[in-house]
Amino acid sequence: MDELSVIDFSFEPTGDPFVDTGGLVLENLIRRFPDKSLFQLIEFATDIYIDKWKQKLHSVFHTNSKLLNPSTKGKHRANTLNYFEKLISKQKTVDSIHGFCKICGREDLLYQNSREFFPLSGSGAFVNFHHGHEEGTYLCNLCTIKLYFLPLGVLQIGGNVSVLQIQTKFTQNFVKKNIIETNFDRISKNTSNGILKSEYKNPKNALFHFAGEIIRMARDENASETLQLFHFTNFGATPFCDIYTLPSPVFRFLNKVLNYQPRLWYYFVNRYYRIKNATWDWESGHWLQSKKKELQPIEEDEYRNNPNLIYERLLAGKSILKQILHLHREHFKQHKDPFPLDIAIYYVKEVLQMDNQQIQIIKRIGDAVFELAQKEHNFKKYLVLLEGASRSYQLRGALLKIIKERYKNGEKEPLIRLQDYVEYLFPDGQSWGEVRDLMLIYLYERLHDADVAETEIPEDIAPVEEEANETF
Ligand SMILES: [Zn+2]
Repeated sequence: MDELSVIDFSFEPTGDPFVDTGGLVLENLIRRFPDKSLFQLIEFATDIYIDKWKQKLHSVFHTNSKLLNPSTKGKHRANTLNYFEKLISKQKTVDSIHGFCKICGREDLLYQNSREFFPLSGSGAFVNFHHGHEEGTYLCNLCTIKLYFLPLGVLQIGGNVSVLQIQTKFTQNFVKKNIIETNFDRISKNTSNGILKSEYKNPKNALFHFAGEIIRMARDENASETLQLFHFTNFGATPFCDIYTLPSPVFRFLNKVLNYQPRLWYYFVNRYYRIKNATWDWESGHWLQSKKKELQPIEEDEYRNNPNLIYERLLAGKSILKQILHLHREHFKQHKDPFPLDIAIYYVKEVLQMDNQQIQIIKRIGDAVFELAQKEHNFKKYLVLLEGASRSYQLRGALLKIIKERYKNGEKEPLIRLQDYVEYLFPDGQSWGEVRDLMLIYLYERLHDADVAETEIPEDIAPVEEEANETF
């Protein structure tokens, strides 16, 4: 009988988050203990699970697994090792078949897997879950063994555990350093007593924190990838999974802001946490709460798990330009330093895919509006015109009015030519509202630079529901 050894493993990602994370743990263990056999590594993991973690693994492995089954108390270690010994020597079992592995596609002897060691994979009782009404998911011995190392690569976030899908070396390095190696360091220091816990309880905020760490570790301006966080539990009768996706344009945008304007970015994000009975202090850039009859700043660790509007909108594919505009406006009103344009520009380029030409046209119109307003000593009139445009035809009307005014003033060059208008200002597939918001952001910057009186700006216009996908 062939003995499977550590050299038989391929650690190329398969696309299955559970198998790949388990594989990454196994790869790390092989490097750590080059002299141990595969069986000894399985023994090593089993000892951690039983002796150090006291079998607190119910969110990853099923209660009825060989490792946790309450009815086989005292035999958990022996039963588990016996099962994997069979897999290592590729012995046929009652439920093994010959075929192609569902995860890696290799043709080999396959073993029936269920929720016992393969989270959320269905169970024999629900045959409609599996292909061709099979009684489980059939995997090769390599994939099945990788799954056994999964608990050492997951992170607990709130009540559930999570894995990050490993697609590039950037995520791989992050998971290795922040989860797997942290686990082994703690185990060697005897300070590990269960699955590693994150300081985050809110998976959305955690995902942005992970993205920040991945970007910091990557030190690569061109790094780009889609992050996927599986927040799940394989627990008993209530298995569950939420998948959070941070798309690659958002990742590239974060890469830019965190490399060039990290303080500004966190200031902006902090402003949009939802915190009960707290007020944002524009002066200090902190949240304040009344404590002992005095307003005192709240520390970030007190609110890091609160919902954050910016993170939520970015994950939902909704624009954050309105929130950026709000900050520009407030900085102007509060006589603070101007809020730099960088975040808006990175955002429209990376996420909204505006090209330079479009941005230049928007700026050119902004300049023209500024000059007209200055000439007429009436900024309010033009700001009301643009801020008040809550429908695309209103913005169109506002632009026409500006074009007319310029013509009446004897300007030789038209503000915008038809081709620019159609091809660049309002290209297909983009929302007109974003064009207006960027124009206003730019206009507020000019107002700020020219030290225009605060009384010139209109009262806050109540947020209006815009037509969802209306284009020009
Ligand atoms: Zn396989």
